[in-house]
Amino acid sequence: MILYIGLDDTDSREGGCTTYLAYRLVDFLLSEGVEILDYPLLARLNPNIPWKTRGNGAVCIKVAVDDDMQDLKDGIVSIFKDNPHMNYGADPALLFYTGSTNKDIIHFAERALYDVLSNESALSIINKYGLEYYAYGSTQGIVGALASIGTSMYIDNADYTYEIIAYRLRENYGRPRMIDETSVIDMDRSTEPYTFNNYDYKHKRVLIAPHGPDPVLCGIRGEDPELLIKALRMLEIKEGMEGYMLFKSNQGTDAHLQHAIDANDLRAYTSGYIVGRVVDDPKVIKKGHTFFELEPLGSSNSIVCAVYEPTGLCSIAQRLRNDDILEVGGGVRDGKDIHQKVLNVEYIMVLKVAEKYIYMNPACTCGKRLKSEGKNKGYSCKHCGCSIVDASKVRVRVHRDIKEGLYLTDPKAHRHLTKPLRRYMLDKHRLRSRLDIEWFYRDSSSNKNGSKALRIDIRDRIKYS
Ligand SMILES: [Zn+2]
Repeated sequence: MILYIGLDDTDSREGGCTTYLAYRLVDFLLSEGVEILDYPLLARLNPNIPWKTRGNGAVCIKVAVDDDMQDLKDGIVSIFKDNPHMNYGADPALLFYTGSTNKDIIHFAERALYDVLSNESALSIINKYGLEYYAYGSTQGIVGALASIGTSMYIDNADYTYEIIAYRLRENYGRPRMIDETSVIDMDRSTEPYTFNNYDYKHKRVLIAPHGPDPVLCGIRGEDPELLIKALRMLEIKEGMEGYMLFKSNQGTDAHLQHAIDANDLRAYTSGYIVGRVVDDPKVIKKGHTFFELEPLGSSNSIVCAVYEPTGLCSIAQRLRNDDILEVGGGVRDGKDIHQKVLNVEYIMVLKVAEKYIYMNPACTCGKRLKSEGKNKGYSCKHCGCSIVDASKVRVRVHRDIKEGLYLTDPKAHRHLTKPLRRYMLDKHRLRSRLDIEWFYRDSSSNKNGSKALRIDIRDRIKYS
């Protein structure tokens, strides 16, 4: 039988705590000799929901079990309840599902990528199929936990990536992370394009390490588990590490932008894409933020698209003109007061550049442009002095300083789900995971109880100061 273990800890913005809880659970499962069927799945959900009580990072662990699994579940629940965030306003949730792939759960997970889902909608599925759950705080965590289970049911038929996440020693929590910046750049250069979002060269910023007090030391994202282990070993990390774990993930796949937004029913905080015609020339407000109106094909309700400066898309947006045909992806911002709902743009695909013309005075035989003498009074040339009465303006095609194609945001504006430039041409479908590599590591000295999961000691392979 397959047991799906779904987890969400919605207090954690970056999912750091959720993945650490998963790491601890996997450590326990391996030490119990449980067969783990795939990499734990880190599922990112609709990033355009502004409130943080609905986690956008949840984890599912898929294991093989027999009928007698009560002791195993008890062990999992006890580790889950040991979660240090339990009493600090978090909304953690744990879900167990045993059974075959379930269409309702998959559908729920697909909607969780672009829609706003209620606790009640999660509960109705949980009750219908008899899932066992533990939820605290607002119990909002059940939405993410259920969505992570559904995502793990279909991820092999979709595009996905991996992330290797390394965890800190407890005594270092809250201290600056000691990762040598040059080694991050070297790792990035020697693993591209098969890893992504390691380093922002424009702003000279390390992207693999968070800044908060969470247990995550760093996370490297990419296409291949073995390469990610190598990439981690390339880093010069000047602090100890509790261990690492590899996750499968929908990060970097644009999974939240695959749904066509209905312009006639624009709902706040949903994500997706729209194809339409630019209605008017763009308007630029302070700091370069740019707005334009798009009339969706087959609809007469135009919607306002907002392109903010940090996305790096403003200069392209400002070159758009009336009648250009675009596909834009993004999230719907709620309409405040009199302002209507707005689509916050996450990419622009220019499908057709409209031809633009201006009308100019005709040229003189001497080569200079003629000057108009006034309406119906003909033209004269200031250069050679000749005058032409019987002439009319000529139509000249304007050079459009924009090309058809896809325009993506700068790395600093990326969400977890944003598909980075490097991944175009690399997306994978229907690949099987290989679990025969050293995908889980825990330093035995960091755990007084010891762990049978320890396969290798990477301390001697990673440079420490
Ligand atoms: Zn002339």
